[in-house]
Amino acid sequence: MYIDMTLVVEKYGGTSVGTLKRIRSIADRIAVARTNGDQLVIVVSAMAGETDRLTDLANGILSQSSNDSKNIQYRDDESTKDNFRELDVLLATGEQVTISLLVLALQSLRIDAKSYTGGQIPIRTDSVHGKARILEIDPANVHSDLAEGRVVVIAGFQGVDDRGNITTLGRGGSDTTAVAMAAALNADECRIYTDVDGVYTADPRIVPTARRLEQITVEEMLELSSLGAKVLQTRAVEFAGKYQVPLRVLSSFEVGSGTLITNKVGNMEQPLIAGIAYNGDEAKLTIRGIPDQPGVASRIFGPISEAHINIDMIIQNVGLDDSTDLTFTVKRDEYAEARSILVEIAKELGAKDVVGDDTLAKVSIVGVGMRSHAGIASTMFDVLAKEGINIEMISTSEIKISVGIADQYLELAVRALHAAFGLDLVPSEDPLEPAAV
Ligand code: ASP
Ligand code: MG
Repeated sequence: MYIDMTLVVEKYGGTSVGTLKRIRSIADRIAVARTNGDQLVIVVSAMAGETDRLTDLANGILSQSSNDSKNIQYRDDESTKDNFRELDVLLATGEQVTISLLVLALQSLRIDAKSYTGGQIPIRTDSVHGKARILEIDPANVHSDLAEGRVVVIAGFQGVDDRGNITTLGRGGSDTTAVAMAAALNADECRIYTDVDGVYTADPRIVPTARRLEQITVEEMLELSSLGAKVLQTRAVEFAGKYQVPLRVLSSFEVGSGTLITNKVGNMEQPLIAGIAYNGDEAKLTIRGIPDQPGVASRIFGPISEAHINIDMIIQNVGLDDSTDLTFTVKRDEYAEARSILVEIAKELGAKDVVGDDTLAKVSIVGVGMRSHAGIASTMFDVLAKEGINIEMISTSEIKISVGIADQYLELAVRALHAAFGLDLVPSEDPLEPAAV
Protein backbone atom coordinates (compact mmCIF):
# COMPACT_ATOMS: atom_id res chain seq x y z
CA MET A 1 0.00 0.00 0.00
CA TYR A 2 1.25 3.44 -0.89
CA ILE A 3 0.80 6.02 1.82
CA ASP A 4 1.12 9.64 0.81
CA MET A 5 2.72 11.23 3.83
CA THR A 6 3.04 14.95 4.16
CA LEU A 7 6.27 16.31 5.57
CA VAL A 8 5.84 19.65 7.25
CA VAL A 9 8.46 21.86 8.90
CA GLU A 10 6.91 24.09 11.57
CA LYS A 11 8.69 26.96 13.24
CA TYR A 12 7.65 28.54 16.52
CA GLY A 13 9.16 31.89 17.46
CA GLY A 14 10.12 33.33 20.82
CA THR A 15 6.69 34.47 22.01
CA SER A 16 5.11 31.15 20.98
CA VAL A 17 7.50 29.34 23.33
CA GLY A 18 7.84 32.19 25.83
CA THR A 19 6.51 30.30 28.87
CA LEU A 20 6.23 26.67 29.99
CA LYS A 21 2.49 26.91 29.47
CA ARG A 22 2.99 27.96 25.86
CA ILE A 23 5.54 25.21 25.27
CA ARG A 24 2.97 22.73 26.59
CA SER A 25 0.31 24.09 24.30
CA ILE A 26 2.65 23.78 21.31
CA ALA A 27 3.15 20.16 22.35
CA ASP A 28 -0.65 19.73 22.43
CA ARG A 29 -0.95 21.16 18.93
CA ILE A 30 1.76 18.82 17.68
CA ALA A 31 -0.13 15.91 19.25
CA VAL A 32 -3.23 16.87 17.26
CA ALA A 33 -1.30 17.39 14.03
CA ARG A 34 0.24 13.94 14.46
CA THR A 35 -3.14 12.24 14.43
CA ASN A 36 -3.53 12.94 10.70
CA GLY A 37 -0.26 11.21 10.02
CA ASP A 38 1.93 14.14 8.99
CA GLN A 39 5.66 13.87 9.49
CA LEU A 40 6.68 16.80 11.62
CA VAL A 41 9.95 18.66 12.01
CA ILE A 42 9.75 21.49 14.53
CA VAL A 43 12.19 24.40 14.62
CA VAL A 44 12.10 26.63 17.68
CA SER A 45 13.55 29.95 18.79
CA ALA A 46 14.78 30.80 22.24
CA MET A 47 12.10 31.67 24.80
CA ALA A 48 10.97 35.30 24.41
CA GLY A 49 13.58 37.81 25.58
CA GLU A 50 16.22 35.14 26.13
CA THR A 51 18.57 36.13 23.30
CA ASP A 52 18.51 39.73 24.55
CA ARG A 53 19.14 38.58 28.11
CA LEU A 54 22.16 36.52 27.03
CA THR A 55 23.53 39.43 25.00
CA ASP A 56 23.20 41.65 28.07
CA LEU A 57 25.13 39.11 30.13
CA ALA A 58 28.00 39.20 27.65
CA ASN A 59 28.02 42.99 27.61
CA GLY A 60 27.87 43.00 31.39
CA ILE A 61 30.95 40.84 31.74
CA LEU A 62 32.86 42.89 29.18
CA SER A 63 32.06 46.22 30.75
CA GLN A 64 33.19 44.95 34.16
CA SER A 65 36.46 43.63 32.86
CA SER A 66 37.51 46.66 30.85
CA ASN A 67 37.34 50.39 31.47
CA ASP A 68 35.41 51.36 28.38
CA SER A 69 32.03 49.69 28.24
CA LYS A 70 32.13 47.75 25.02
CA ASN A 71 28.97 46.68 23.34
CA ILE A 72 29.08 43.50 21.33
CA GLN A 73 27.03 44.14 18.24
CA TYR A 74 28.67 41.76 15.79
CA ARG A 75 29.78 44.85 13.91
CA ASP A 76 32.80 44.68 11.69
CA ASP A 77 34.57 46.14 14.63
CA GLU A 78 38.04 44.69 15.17
CA SER A 79 38.04 45.47 18.89
CA THR A 80 35.28 42.99 19.70
CA LYS A 81 35.92 40.47 16.95
CA ASP A 82 37.55 37.90 19.21
CA ASN A 83 34.42 37.92 21.30
CA PHE A 84 32.11 36.89 18.50
CA ARG A 85 32.95 33.19 18.68
CA GLU A 86 32.16 33.17 22.39
CA LEU A 87 28.99 35.19 21.94
CA ASP A 88 27.74 32.53 19.51
CA VAL A 89 28.52 29.83 22.10
CA LEU A 90 26.45 31.82 24.58
CA LEU A 91 23.51 32.80 22.36
CA ALA A 92 23.09 29.29 20.96
CA THR A 93 22.17 28.10 24.45
CA GLY A 94 18.84 29.95 24.23
CA GLU A 95 17.47 27.65 21.54
CA GLN A 96 19.02 24.60 23.22
CA VAL A 97 16.82 25.22 26.26
CA THR A 98 13.66 25.33 24.15
CA ILE A 99 14.32 22.14 22.17
CA SER A 100 14.79 20.07 25.28
CA LEU A 101 11.75 21.52 27.06
CA LEU A 102 9.56 20.91 24.04
CA VAL A 103 10.74 17.32 23.68
CA LEU A 104 10.09 16.72 27.39
CA ALA A 105 6.58 18.14 26.94
CA LEU A 106 6.01 15.85 23.95
CA GLN A 107 7.33 12.83 25.80
CA SER A 108 4.94 13.50 28.65
CA LEU A 109 2.17 13.23 26.04
CA ARG A 110 3.69 9.87 25.03
CA ILE A 111 4.92 11.21 21.73
CA ASP A 112 8.25 9.90 20.53
CA ALA A 113 10.42 12.96 19.91
CA LYS A 114 14.08 13.88 19.73
CA SER A 115 15.95 17.18 19.85
CA TYR A 116 18.92 18.34 17.79
CA THR A 117 21.13 21.39 18.09
CA GLY A 118 22.26 22.91 14.79
CA GLY A 119 25.64 21.22 15.12
CA GLN A 120 24.10 17.82 15.75
CA ILE A 121 22.07 17.79 12.51
CA PRO A 122 24.61 19.07 11.22
CA ILE A 123 23.67 22.42 9.72
CA ARG A 124 26.97 23.48 8.19
CA THR A 125 27.68 27.19 7.90
CA ASP A 126 30.56 29.48 7.05
CA SER A 127 32.59 30.90 9.95
CA VAL A 128 31.17 34.40 10.09
CA HIS A 129 30.07 34.47 13.72
CA GLY A 130 26.86 36.35 14.34
CA LYS A 131 25.72 36.28 10.73
CA ALA A 132 26.78 32.92 9.40
CA ARG A 133 25.36 31.61 6.14
CA ILE A 134 24.13 28.07 5.75
CA LEU A 135 26.26 26.09 3.30
CA GLU A 136 24.90 22.60 3.55
CA ILE A 137 22.52 20.47 5.59
CA ASP A 138 22.74 16.71 5.91
CA PRO A 139 19.13 15.55 6.38
CA ALA A 140 19.98 11.85 6.92
CA ASN A 141 19.48 11.83 10.72
CA VAL A 142 16.19 13.61 10.45
CA HIS A 143 14.90 11.33 7.71
CA SER A 144 15.66 8.23 9.71
CA ASP A 145 13.99 9.62 12.85
CA LEU A 146 10.90 10.52 10.83
CA ALA A 147 10.86 7.06 9.29
CA GLU A 148 10.79 5.62 12.79
CA GLY A 149 7.76 7.77 13.61
CA ARG A 150 9.54 10.39 15.70
CA VAL A 151 8.88 14.12 15.86
CA VAL A 152 12.18 15.94 15.30
CA VAL A 153 12.77 19.19 17.20
CA ILE A 154 15.61 21.40 15.96
CA ALA A 155 17.25 24.47 17.50
CA GLY A 156 16.83 27.44 15.17
CA PHE A 157 19.35 30.22 14.59
CA GLN A 158 22.48 28.08 14.84
CA GLY A 159 24.90 25.92 12.94
CA VAL A 160 28.46 24.66 12.97
CA ASP A 161 31.43 25.62 10.81
CA ASP A 162 33.96 23.23 9.26
CA ARG A 163 36.14 23.37 12.39
CA GLY A 164 33.31 22.52 14.75
CA ASN A 165 32.74 26.06 16.01
CA ILE A 166 29.18 26.96 16.96
CA THR A 167 27.83 29.72 14.75
CA THR A 168 24.62 31.79 14.75
CA LEU A 169 22.72 33.10 11.75
CA GLY A 170 21.80 36.62 12.86
CA ARG A 171 18.82 37.90 14.82
CA GLY A 172 15.57 36.35 13.69
CA GLY A 173 17.58 33.54 12.12
CA SER A 174 15.28 30.71 13.18
CA ASP A 175 13.03 31.54 10.23
CA THR A 176 15.98 30.83 7.96
CA THR A 177 16.75 27.57 9.77
CA ALA A 178 13.16 26.44 9.20
CA VAL A 179 13.14 27.27 5.50
CA ALA A 180 16.58 25.73 4.98
CA MET A 181 15.51 22.53 6.76
CA ALA A 182 12.37 22.43 4.62
CA ALA A 183 14.50 22.78 1.48
CA ALA A 184 16.98 20.09 2.60
CA LEU A 185 14.17 17.68 3.50
CA ASN A 186 12.16 18.53 0.39
CA ALA A 187 9.23 19.25 2.69
CA ASP A 188 5.73 19.85 1.40
CA GLU A 189 5.42 23.08 3.32
CA CYS A 190 7.25 25.27 5.80
CA ARG A 191 4.93 26.91 8.33
CA ILE A 192 6.14 29.84 10.37
CA TYR A 193 3.95 30.29 13.44
CA THR A 194 4.18 33.76 14.87
CA ASP A 195 2.17 36.40 16.73
CA VAL A 196 0.40 37.74 13.66
CA ASP A 197 -2.04 35.63 11.65
CA GLY A 198 -0.56 36.40 8.25
CA VAL A 199 0.59 39.10 5.86
CA TYR A 200 -1.80 42.04 5.55
CA THR A 201 -2.58 44.43 2.69
CA ALA A 202 -1.46 47.24 5.01
CA ASP A 203 -0.70 47.74 8.68
CA PRO A 204 -4.06 47.10 10.42
CA ARG A 205 -3.15 49.64 13.08
CA ILE A 206 -3.33 52.37 10.43
CA VAL A 207 -5.85 50.85 8.06
CA PRO A 208 -8.70 49.20 9.98
CA THR A 209 -10.04 47.74 6.72
CA ALA A 210 -6.77 45.94 5.93
CA ARG A 211 -7.19 42.32 4.89
CA ARG A 212 -5.08 39.24 5.44
CA LEU A 213 -3.73 38.01 2.11
CA GLU A 214 -4.41 34.36 1.28
CA GLN A 215 -1.34 34.38 -0.89
CA ILE A 216 1.52 36.66 -1.92
CA THR A 217 4.46 36.14 -4.25
CA VAL A 218 8.02 35.85 -2.97
CA GLU A 219 8.96 38.99 -4.89
CA GLU A 220 6.16 41.04 -3.35
CA MET A 221 7.00 39.75 0.10
CA LEU A 222 10.67 40.68 -0.36
CA GLU A 223 9.71 44.14 -1.53
CA LEU A 224 7.32 44.63 1.40
CA SER A 225 9.89 43.42 3.93
CA SER A 226 12.57 45.70 2.55
CA LEU A 227 10.05 48.53 2.94
CA GLY A 228 9.72 47.69 6.60
CA ALA A 229 6.99 45.06 6.95
CA LYS A 230 8.56 42.89 9.65
CA VAL A 231 6.79 39.58 9.40
CA LEU A 232 9.62 37.27 8.40
CA GLN A 233 13.38 37.50 8.26
CA THR A 234 14.17 38.67 4.69
CA ARG A 235 16.81 35.99 4.26
CA ALA A 236 14.23 33.32 4.98
CA VAL A 237 11.99 34.64 2.22
CA GLU A 238 14.92 34.76 -0.22
CA PHE A 239 15.78 31.20 0.68
CA ALA A 240 12.20 30.08 0.11
CA GLY A 241 12.19 31.71 -3.32
CA LYS A 242 15.51 30.22 -4.35
CA TYR A 243 14.68 26.66 -3.27
CA GLN A 244 10.96 26.79 -4.14
CA VAL A 245 9.83 26.07 -0.60
CA PRO A 246 6.13 26.80 -0.08
CA LEU A 247 6.18 29.07 2.95
CA ARG A 248 3.19 29.88 5.12
CA VAL A 249 2.93 32.45 7.91
CA LEU A 250 0.28 31.70 10.55
CA SER A 251 -0.70 32.64 14.06
CA SER A 252 0.43 30.34 16.83
CA PHE A 253 -2.49 31.48 18.98
CA GLU A 254 -5.45 31.40 16.60
CA VAL A 255 -6.68 28.88 14.08
CA GLY A 256 -6.47 30.06 10.47
CA SER A 257 -4.82 29.42 7.14
CA GLY A 258 -2.41 32.36 7.34
CA THR A 259 -0.70 33.63 4.20
CA LEU A 260 1.05 31.44 1.66
CA ILE A 261 4.23 32.93 0.17
CA THR A 262 4.90 31.28 -3.14
CA ASN A 263 6.68 31.63 -6.47
CA LYS A 264 3.59 30.59 -8.33
CA VAL A 265 1.28 33.33 -9.49
CA GLY A 266 -1.59 31.29 -10.76
CA ASN A 267 -4.54 33.26 -9.53
CA MET A 268 -6.11 35.40 -12.24
CA GLU A 269 -8.19 37.21 -9.68
CA GLN A 270 -5.15 38.33 -7.77
CA PRO A 271 -5.49 42.08 -7.18
CA LEU A 272 -3.06 44.34 -9.03
CA ILE A 273 -1.62 45.61 -5.79
CA ALA A 274 -0.70 43.15 -3.04
CA GLY A 275 -0.04 45.64 -0.33
CA ILE A 276 0.86 49.11 0.82
CA ALA A 277 3.88 49.82 2.98
CA TYR A 278 4.85 53.05 4.65
CA ASN A 279 7.61 54.63 6.60
CA GLY A 280 7.03 57.74 8.66
CA ASP A 281 10.66 58.52 9.47
CA GLU A 282 12.19 59.89 6.32
CA ALA A 283 14.00 63.12 5.58
CA LYS A 284 15.18 64.81 2.43
CA LEU A 285 18.17 66.92 1.59
CA THR A 286 18.76 69.12 -1.45
CA ILE A 287 22.08 70.50 -2.56
CA ARG A 288 21.44 73.43 -4.89
CA GLY A 289 23.53 74.99 -7.59
CA ILE A 290 26.10 72.27 -8.09
CA PRO A 291 28.18 72.20 -11.30
CA ASP A 292 26.47 69.96 -13.87
CA GLN A 293 29.45 67.84 -14.86
CA PRO A 294 30.77 64.26 -14.59
CA GLY A 295 31.92 63.11 -11.16
CA VAL A 296 29.74 65.36 -9.08
CA ALA A 297 27.25 62.71 -7.95
CA SER A 298 30.07 60.45 -6.88
CA ARG A 299 31.74 63.27 -4.91
CA ILE A 300 28.46 63.80 -3.10
CA PHE A 301 27.47 60.20 -2.41
CA GLY A 302 30.98 58.88 -1.72
CA PRO A 303 31.36 60.56 1.69
CA ILE A 304 27.73 59.81 2.56
CA SER A 305 28.20 56.11 1.98
CA GLU A 306 31.54 56.13 3.82
CA ALA A 307 29.56 57.36 6.83
CA HIS A 308 27.30 54.28 6.39
CA ILE A 309 24.28 56.46 5.70
CA ASN A 310 21.74 54.75 3.49
CA ILE A 311 20.26 56.75 0.65
CA ASP A 312 16.88 55.86 -0.71
CA MET A 313 15.22 58.04 -3.35
CA ILE A 314 17.31 60.38 -5.53
CA ILE A 315 16.23 63.13 -7.91
CA GLN A 316 18.50 65.27 -10.06
CA ASN A 317 17.01 68.24 -11.84
CA VAL A 318 17.72 69.18 -15.41
CA GLY A 319 20.43 71.83 -15.29
CA LEU A 320 19.21 75.15 -16.67
CA ASP A 321 22.60 76.77 -17.03
CA ASP A 322 25.69 74.77 -16.07
CA SER A 323 24.37 74.04 -12.62
CA THR A 324 21.80 71.65 -11.23
CA ASP A 325 20.09 70.58 -7.97
CA LEU A 326 20.20 67.15 -6.42
CA THR A 327 17.73 65.85 -3.83
CA PHE A 328 17.83 62.58 -1.93
CA THR A 329 16.19 60.97 1.07
CA VAL A 330 17.70 59.39 4.17
CA LYS A 331 16.26 57.93 7.37
CA ARG A 332 15.31 60.66 9.79
CA ASP A 333 17.79 59.62 12.47
CA GLU A 334 20.63 60.05 9.98
CA TYR A 335 19.43 63.41 8.75
CA ALA A 336 21.62 65.63 10.93
CA GLU A 337 24.79 63.72 10.11
CA ALA A 338 23.98 63.59 6.39
CA ARG A 339 23.26 67.29 6.41
CA SER A 340 26.56 68.25 7.96
CA ILE A 341 28.48 66.05 5.52
CA LEU A 342 26.55 67.62 2.66
CA VAL A 343 27.28 71.15 3.86
CA GLU A 344 31.02 70.35 3.73
CA ILE A 345 30.71 68.90 0.22
CA ALA A 346 28.71 71.95 -0.89
CA LYS A 347 31.59 74.18 0.16
CA GLU A 348 34.13 72.07 -1.71
CA LEU A 349 31.99 71.99 -4.86
CA GLY A 350 31.15 75.66 -4.71
CA ALA A 351 27.43 74.84 -4.58
CA LYS A 352 24.85 77.48 -3.73
CA ASP A 353 23.39 75.96 -0.58
CA VAL A 354 21.91 72.94 1.19
CA VAL A 355 18.28 72.80 2.23
CA GLY A 356 16.45 70.01 3.98
CA ASP A 357 13.23 68.77 5.46
CA ASP A 358 13.00 66.11 8.13
CA THR A 359 9.22 65.71 8.12
CA LEU A 360 8.95 63.39 5.15
CA ALA A 361 7.12 60.08 4.92
CA LYS A 362 7.27 57.38 2.27
CA VAL A 363 4.28 55.43 0.99
CA SER A 364 4.77 52.50 -1.38
CA ILE A 365 2.42 50.30 -3.32
CA VAL A 366 3.68 46.84 -4.25
CA GLY A 367 2.30 44.33 -6.72
CA VAL A 368 3.47 42.06 -9.53
CA GLY A 369 0.35 43.21 -11.41
CA MET A 370 2.27 46.38 -12.31
CA ARG A 371 4.24 44.45 -14.88
CA SER A 372 1.21 43.80 -17.00
CA HIS A 373 -1.00 46.77 -16.24
CA ALA A 374 -0.45 50.35 -17.26
CA GLY A 375 -2.00 53.16 -15.33
CA ILE A 376 -1.15 52.14 -11.80
CA ALA A 377 1.20 55.06 -11.23
CA SER A 378 -1.30 57.56 -12.60
CA THR A 379 -4.05 56.10 -10.42
CA MET A 380 -1.79 56.49 -7.40
CA PHE A 381 -0.99 60.13 -8.24
CA ASP A 382 -4.65 60.83 -8.90
CA VAL A 383 -5.72 59.50 -5.53
CA LEU A 384 -3.14 61.65 -3.76
CA ALA A 385 -4.10 64.71 -5.80
CA LYS A 386 -7.77 64.28 -4.84
CA GLU A 387 -6.74 64.27 -1.19
CA GLY A 388 -4.72 67.44 -1.74
CA ILE A 389 -1.46 65.67 -0.91
CA ASN A 390 1.63 67.02 -2.61
CA ILE A 391 4.12 64.45 -3.97
CA GLU A 392 7.69 65.50 -3.24
CA MET A 393 9.64 62.50 -4.52
CA ILE A 394 8.87 59.47 -6.64
CA SER A 395 10.80 56.28 -7.10
CA THR A 396 9.83 53.09 -8.86
CA SER A 397 10.97 49.55 -9.44
CA GLU A 398 9.37 46.90 -11.59
CA ILE A 399 6.79 45.97 -8.98
CA LYS A 400 6.78 49.01 -6.67
CA ILE A 401 6.00 52.72 -6.70
CA SER A 402 7.05 54.87 -3.75
CA VAL A 403 6.24 58.50 -3.11
CA GLY A 404 7.65 60.92 -0.57
CA ILE A 405 4.99 63.14 1.06
CA ALA A 406 4.70 65.34 4.14
CA ASP A 407 4.46 63.03 7.12
CA GLN A 408 1.27 64.66 8.42
CA TYR A 409 -0.60 63.10 5.47
CA LEU A 410 0.79 59.62 5.91
CA GLU A 411 -2.29 57.91 7.33
CA LEU A 412 -4.65 59.71 4.98
CA ALA A 413 -2.56 58.66 1.98
CA VAL A 414 -2.31 55.01 3.03
CA ARG A 415 -6.05 54.75 3.68
CA ALA A 416 -7.03 56.50 0.45
CA LEU A 417 -4.72 54.28 -1.64
CA HIS A 418 -5.89 51.17 0.15
CA ALA A 419 -9.49 51.97 -0.76
CA ALA A 420 -8.72 53.11 -4.30
CA PHE A 421 -6.85 49.94 -5.21
CA GLY A 422 -9.70 47.77 -3.99
CA LEU A 423 -7.87 46.38 -0.99
CA ASP A 424 -10.48 47.30 1.62
CA LEU A 425 -12.42 44.50 3.26
CA VAL A 426 -15.56 45.77 1.55
CA PRO A 427 -14.68 45.48 -2.13
CA SER A 428 -14.81 48.79 -3.99
CA GLU A 429 -14.72 49.30 -7.76
CA ASP A 430 -11.67 48.61 -9.85
CA PRO A 431 -9.81 51.94 -10.06
CA LEU A 432 -8.61 51.23 -13.60
CA GLU A 433 -12.09 50.56 -14.99
CA PRO A 434 -14.25 53.63 -15.49
CA ALA A 435 -17.24 53.46 -13.19
CA ALA A 436 -20.47 52.35 -14.85
CA VAL A 437 -23.05 55.10 -15.20
N1 ASP B 1 16.56 33.74 19.20
C1 ASP B 1 17.06 34.45 18.07
C2 ASP B 1 16.63 35.91 18.13
O1 ASP B 1 15.99 36.30 19.08
C3 ASP B 1 16.66 33.84 16.77
C4 ASP B 1 15.20 33.90 16.47
O2 ASP B 1 14.37 34.11 17.34
O3 ASP B 1 14.83 33.67 15.32
O4 ASP B 1 16.97 36.67 17.28
MG1 MG C 1 11.82 35.63 15.75
